[in-house]
Amino acid sequence: MKKAATHPLRTALPTRIGVSRCLLGEEVRYDGGHKRDRFLTDVLGRYVEWVPICPEVEAGLGAPREAMRLIGTPQHPRLVTIKSGTDHTRALETMATNRIEELKHLDLAGYVFKKGSPSCGTERVRVYYKEGVVSRNGIGLFARAFIEQFPLIPVEEEGRLCDSTLRENFIERVFCYRRWQDLIHNGVTRQALIQFHTIHKYILLAHHPQHYKVLGRLVGEAHQHRPKDLVRRYGELFMKALAVKATVRKHVNVLQHILGHFKNRLSAHEKAELLGVIGDYHQELTPLIVPLTLIKHYVQIFDVGYIRDQVYLNPHPKELMLRNHV
Ligand code: SF4
Repeated sequence: MKKAATHPLRTALPTRIGVSRCLLGEEVRYDGGHKRDRFLTDVLGRYVEWVPICPEVEAGLGAPREAMRLIGTPQHPRLVTIKSGTDHTRALETMATNRIEELKHLDLAGYVFKKGSPSCGTERVRVYYKEGVVSRNGIGLFARAFIEQFPLIPVEEEGRLCDSTLRENFIERVFCYRRWQDLIHNGVTRQALIQFHTIHKYILLAHHPQHYKVLGRLVGEAHQHRPKDLVRRYGELFMKALAVKATVRKHVNVLQHILGHFKNRLSAHEKAELLGVIGDYHQELTPLIVPLTLIKHYVQIFDVGYIRDQVYLNPHPKELMLRNHV
């Protein structure tokens, strides 16, 4: 009897993503306004469950409130209001400690932060350290606490999600991390880890072929490690590999690998056509979705189980159209 394929996107837990509350259109900004992001609310929001957080409002500072900025050094800045000079660092830090305790039970698979904010920005936040002197190396107080506590959870700023490559990379990592959490929740057996590693082969190769090999060795030597260490090491390297951008060259390499599984079953004409489509993608004349669609067609026709179950073919909901850009 043929074994039913497990769809790579099917997960037991909801895909929960933390988000700076103002990005969902809530009027929580210092000026009483919001920064609604249409991609998040109207597109991505259909496939994930948001966990909205406004650190400054949750710290009891109200909305509207006096504008704030970071002052001091980028490593240890303080959150201070611009006009009156009131220091809210303690309130923000207390809020962050309490909220992060709650978040530990919510199994977030990602976080979208508001760029530039002294509480939420993840990079290049302005820090004023002398009269008139500004550094752009700061991180918002809440964002820093979150990243330190959850180093494996994919985080991104809404501004960077306008870049189609960064957007795809972030969302791909979110769904990969969700599957990793599912595995952990179900109990990581050696067999389950082998299966997890197997279905992520091509997605890992598209990001970091060397890390894929190291992960393979780790799985092969699983019995030599304590289960806890194995899970920690695999999870860290898995997410580190996926954080490296997939490139056209690496995708072409993966497509050719996949083709190798059924090329002997193609006619000369079909093979030439598929190679031509991959070549067009290589020259950046067509998006990745074009060769992939043709490959998926043959995988279905020839019923190539090993390829059919690969996450690489369906890493995120197709309706997000993340692979339709050149
Ligand atoms: S950037 Fe962060 S702190 Fe500022 S309004 Fe948005 S959610 Fe609140």
